[in-house]
Amino acid sequence: VNRRTLLRTGGAALVGLGFGGCATTRSRRGDPAPGMPTQPPINLVPVAASWERVIRTTVGLRPHRPSGFLLKAERLDEKVLIHDYGHGGAGHGIGWGTGFLATELAMQQTKRRAAVIGCGTVGLTAARQLQRHGFDVTIYAASLPPETTSNMAMAFFSPASGLISAARTPEWEIQFRHAAEIGYRELQLLVGSRYGISWIDSYTMSDEEPAAPREEPGSGELVPRSMQTDRIVLGPGEHPFPTTYALRRSILRIEPSIYLDALLADVVRFGGHIVVRKFETPRDLMSLTESVIVNCAGLGSRELFNDKTMVPVKGQLSVLVPQTDVDYAASGGGARTAGAVVSTMPRRDGIVLGTTMERGVETLEPNEESRKRIVDGAVAVFNAMRRPARDRPITTSVPPSQPARFDSFLDEDDV
Ligand SMILES: Cc1cc2nc3c(=O)[nH]c(=O)nc-3n(C[C@H](O)[C@H](O)[C@H](O)COP(=O)(O)OP(=O)(O)OC[C@H]3O[C@@H](n4cnc5c(N)ncnc54)[C@H](O)[C@@H]3O)c2cc1C
Repeated sequence: VNRRTLLRTGGAALVGLGFGGCATTRSRRGDPAPGMPTQPPINLVPVAASWERVIRTTVGLRPHRPSGFLLKAERLDEKVLIHDYGHGGAGHGIGWGTGFLATELAMQQTKRRAAVIGCGTVGLTAARQLQRHGFDVTIYAASLPPETTSNMAMAFFSPASGLISAARTPEWEIQFRHAAEIGYRELQLLVGSRYGISWIDSYTMSDEEPAAPREEPGSGELVPRSMQTDRIVLGPGEHPFPTTYALRRSILRIEPSIYLDALLADVVRFGGHIVVRKFETPRDLMSLTESVIVNCAGLGSRELFNDKTMVPVKGQLSVLVPQTDVDYAASGGGARTAGAVVSTMPRRDGIVLGTTMERGVETLEPNEESRKRIVDGAVAVFNAMRRPARDRPITTSVPPSQPARFDSFLDEDDV
């Protein structure tokens, strides 16, 4: 399996974070890079992967728009309609950012009552941004968490994943960078158990030494370097994975079921309302009393606003019984796993295995072939992983930092 194959099949961890980026440190036992502390040997508990431990398989349709998310205001009779949809595989990463940009457009109006259409990660973060800027907000949505695509995500900060497949315009790039910066900052500030956000070590397995990072962002790079964390290349004997190399970096993990519930609770806590309602046509929106409408309907925008450019990108995950002793994400594979690859993320609701990216596939039915490949891949990779040494401590990820900022002024009972 070469690096290109891994990027295609090895899952979102590689695709989302990109291989280009900031400095790579080559770790050698007893020979640390200048100025770097000696790395303690990596000692990890393998995922107990087996078919008996599979507890569910989920499917979500990523709302992909080839030209990237749409963020713009237009008039709908006497109302202002602000679009904020088409986040592909990056809605959790950039929702806070596009929500802020949508709010800037809303602020150009004098009225401070807004309707948000959609209650996924994009609608909820847009609603919170509007509230923070003084708007009374009501969310109208056909479905609420846990029944949204956003609940079906892996999910980690991957601001450009599956986001754009057509040529980028300079204007869109500016919007993207601004949105990604805001998203990155907001998610970091929400690290803590209340929002289910944490930093975690991620290992990318490969038989080929990871390429040196590309120099300055230039044309190919979309995610600024400032949003890419350190990369440490672990060579033979320095890691327990069944490949020659493992690339370690820190990533921001989001646990969707905790995160979305906390956001929804915040919207209500700050005076917002939630109404379950499906809109069939833009005319239906005219019955709303709010004069500012922010459309965060995700893939639903295809029918509601007749955006024929939108394409679903099906993503399927299988979930194993949670394992408290697994505290790292992993992706990739190699010759010793006979080409089998994994992409895993441990969460409180299970060890998530994924994922697929099937462009243009509309069905929410699990694909049995994908399920077999994903689970069998995990069994092959983790069975081939070195067992943990008993005489050394298990390597843990970065501990969660301070409690999330809202905790400080909420009663325990409220949380
Ligand atoms: C397997 C998988 C892995 C993923 N991994 C990641 C990841 O690691 N990181 C990341 O950032 N993203 C990831 N994503 C992508 C992420 O889930 C999406 O970008 C995100 O869910 C889009 O959010 P949304 O709020 O736009 O859409 P949704 O969550 O689909 O929410 C849309 C809302 O609009 C409502 N709605 C739709 N139509 C109407 C209508 N006509 N009337 C009223 N309401 C309507 C819906 O009911 C819903 O409430 C992943 C997705 C999948 C499937």
